[in-house]
Amino acid sequence: MTGASPRRLYLFQLESVTVPVAGGTLEMSSGCYLIETGDGQHILIDSGLPVDYTPPPGMPSAHHGKDVIAHLADLGLRPDDITTLICTHFDIDHVGHHDAFTKAELIVQREQYERARGGDERSAAGRAHWDHPALRYRLIDGDTELLPGLTLIETGGHAPGHQSVLVRLPRTGPVLLAIDAVVMQRLFTPDRRAWPGDDNEEQLRASTRKLLDLVEREQVTLVIFGHDGQQWQSLTKAPESYE
Ligand SMILES: [Zn+2]
Repeated sequence: MTGASPRRLYLFQLESVTVPVAGGTLEMSSGCYLIETGDGQHILIDSGLPVDYTPPPGMPSAHHGKDVIAHLADLGLRPDDITTLICTHFDIDHVGHHDAFTKAELIVQREQYERARGGDERSAAGRAHWDHPALRYRLIDGDTELLPGLTLIETGGHAPGHQSVLVRLPRTGPVLLAIDAVVMQRLFTPDRRAWPGDDNEEQLRASTRKLLDLVEREQVTLVIFGHDGQQWQSLTKAPESYE
């Protein structure tokens, strides 16, 4: 691997919440991710809920852990040290600190960006954060290798132009960050159903199958699901890292 390849992957756990569901409760958690490359770049994936977020009426309020800025500080990093910010999609729980990363290049699927700029309802809540005038965007179309060992995978269905991330690490091997294409481990099946909040069930299923194929083909050693609170308990979290 060359110097510009991923060397470490840090998992930042953000909020966690227990959601009542039929017959019990569901542990949900959210996170964002930091990749360090061999040549010293710091690539952030998503930025979590904004500081001033209040849940909609009727929704349980989350336990707030450290935010992304505090997680970076623990590693001796400031927002200006982030060279690239990968935007998986513009839902509020993924964009809340984007406006802190004015030195970074932000990378998003063109479809997601254009739908959001066009005023789609779901991206409106976080707009002050992702549509800040100081931010620089690079728009991409479909699957894109960003660096050797770092590929963005277009996985629409949860949101239009949503993307997942495949990271090849020197020791761990290929790690798939499914993000909200697959929010829980138990939804990672070919015939899965959509959840409320998903944009398009047919596309979501196609994206899930695309990721199932990728896991097989690339011999992925670890799949991290978007909001699986139970899985988060077993993951290696920052300041530790996968190498
Ligand atoms: Zn989400």
